[in-house]
Amino acid sequence: MNINIDNLQAEEFRLQQLANYLFGQSRASVGTSPSGIRLPDTGNVVNMKAPQTALPDPHFPSGGSGATDLAKLSTLSQLPIFDYMQYHQDYYFLKDRPVAQLPEMGNFPVDVLRKEFPILQEYVNGRPLVWLDNAATTQKPSCVIERISQFYRKENSNIHRAAHQLAARATDAYESARESVRSFINAGSSNEIVFVRGTTEGINLVAYTLGAGYLKSGDQVLISNLEHHANIVPWQQLRERIGIELVVIPVDDSGQIDMEAYKNLLTSKVKLVSFVQVSNALGTITPAKKMIQWAHAAGAKVLLDGAQSVSHMPIDLQELKPDFFVFSGHKVFGPTGIGVLYIQNDTLDELPAWQGGGNMIRDVRFDNTTYQNGHARFEAGTGNIADAVGLGAALEFLRTIGMHSIAAYEHQLLLYATEKLKQVPGLEIIGKAADKASVLSFTLADFSNESVGKHLDEHGIAVRTGHHCAQPILRRFGQETTVRPSLAFYNTKEEIDWLQDALFKLISQR
Ligand code: PMP
Repeated sequence: MNINIDNLQAEEFRLQQLANYLFGQSRASVGTSPSGIRLPDTGNVVNMKAPQTALPDPHFPSGGSGATDLAKLSTLSQLPIFDYMQYHQDYYFLKDRPVAQLPEMGNFPVDVLRKEFPILQEYVNGRPLVWLDNAATTQKPSCVIERISQFYRKENSNIHRAAHQLAARATDAYESARESVRSFINAGSSNEIVFVRGTTEGINLVAYTLGAGYLKSGDQVLISNLEHHANIVPWQQLRERIGIELVVIPVDDSGQIDMEAYKNLLTSKVKLVSFVQVSNALGTITPAKKMIQWAHAAGAKVLLDGAQSVSHMPIDLQELKPDFFVFSGHKVFGPTGIGVLYIQNDTLDELPAWQGGGNMIRDVRFDNTTYQNGHARFEAGTGNIADAVGLGAALEFLRTIGMHSIAAYEHQLLLYATEKLKQVPGLEIIGKAADKASVLSFTLADFSNESVGKHLDEHGIAVRTGHHCAQPILRRFGQETTVRPSLAFYNTKEEIDWLQDALFKLISQR
C-alpha cells in the first residue's frame, strides 16, 4: 500500500486539532477585532473598518461541558489513526476500485465523535435515537451549542457599528466565521461570502438580482430534473416577472444527469445553469465540475446548490469554479436560520443590490444613496450574528475531522446500507446512480411510505417520508413519495442493522 507521508502528516495535524476540540482546549480562540480600539485585556488593536482574523481571544475558559465529559471517556492515544487520506481526493469517482480494497470503516473514530452530539444520546419510544433524517437537518455538536451560548454570554452586540468592547468581540466572532466559511469551501476571498438565511434565501437572492438586469425576456435558465423546489420556484417566479424560459435537463433511469441531452441544451440562449451537487431525493452526485465547464464554455453563469453536498464531501470552489454556490448551516451541523451564498468576485460587483437598509450602504442622502461593494451590499440590516458564529464553529469542527475522512467513511456506510436494504423483500431503492451520497430513498411493497415511517419511529429510527420538496424527480420515477433514510458521519453500521431488523419486523406482518 502506498502511503503518502505529506498526507499522513496533514492528517496527524488534523488529529491534533481534533484532540484540542475533544479534550478541552479553547474553542473560541480565534477572532477578529474592529478598529480604533485597544482591547485592554488582550492588548489587540482592533480595526473597525477592516477586521483582521485570528487574534487570540482570552474571554473563553478552556474546555466546556462536552470536552470535560469526553476527557473522562477517552485519551488521544486511544484515538485510532485515520488512514483515509492516502486515497485519491476524487474518491467518489473512482469507480474501478474494488470494494475489498477500500479502507476499513473501523478506523474512523465514529464512537468518539458521536459523543460530541448530545442529542444522539437521547431515547425515543424507549429506544436509542437513530437519526437517519440528515438530509432534512443534521444534529449539532457540543462545540456549536456552546459557541452560540458563549456568544450570548460574552460577546453579544450588534456588529461593525459601535465603538465599544462588545461590538469588537461580536464583530471578531462574525468575521472570523466568514473566514471559516471561506476556508471550508476554498473560496478565493471572504468578500465572496454572503451570510443569508439558508439555501432558499440564497437562490431567491440570485434569481432576484440576476432578474434585475442580467437576465432578459427570452433568455433561458437551465435547471435539472433533480432540483429541490427551492431551485425551481424562484425561477418560475422570475419567468412570471420578466419572461425568461425555464428549461429542464433530463436525468437517465439511474437518476443521473443525461449529459448528452445537457450538451444539446447548451445553446447561446442559455444565460444561467442552476443545479444541485447532491440530490436530496435520490442522493445522486452530479458531475458538477464538467457541467460547470460546459456551461461556461457556452457563455452561461452557474449556480451550484450545495445544500446536500457540504456535509458529505470536500468542496473546493476554486477548482469547481461556479459563479454562485449556496448552502444551509443546519444541514452541515450548524444552526438553523443561517446559510451561505458564495458569489464569485467577478460577478459580485455586477449584481445590483437586493434588500435596502442599514449595513449595505456607504452614504445615504435623500436625493442619492451609494452602496457598499462586496458581501456587505447583500447583508442589509442586522443579520443572524450568533448563528453565523455557530456555523463557523461547525465548519471548524468538520475541518478538524477532515472532509476526506468523512467522505470515505460515509461512502462505505452507504454501500453497506444499500446492500442491507436490498436484502429486504419488496423494497425498491429509488435512485441508483453510480455516484451517490448519503440518501437511500425507497418504497416497500404492501406498505404505505407513511406507515413505514411510523413503524420505524416506534423503533426510535427517524427517517423522512414524503415528497422531500422535490416532486418532479420523484414523479420521474413514478412516485409521489418515498421513505428516505439519509446518512451522516455519526451514523454506524449497527444503526443500519437496526434499520434492517425493524423493516424485517414490519414485513413479517404482511
Ligand atoms: N436544495 C436542496 C438540495 C435541499 O436539500 C434543500 C433542503 N432540503 C434546499 C435546497 C433548501 O434548503 P433550506 O430549506 O435550508 O433553505
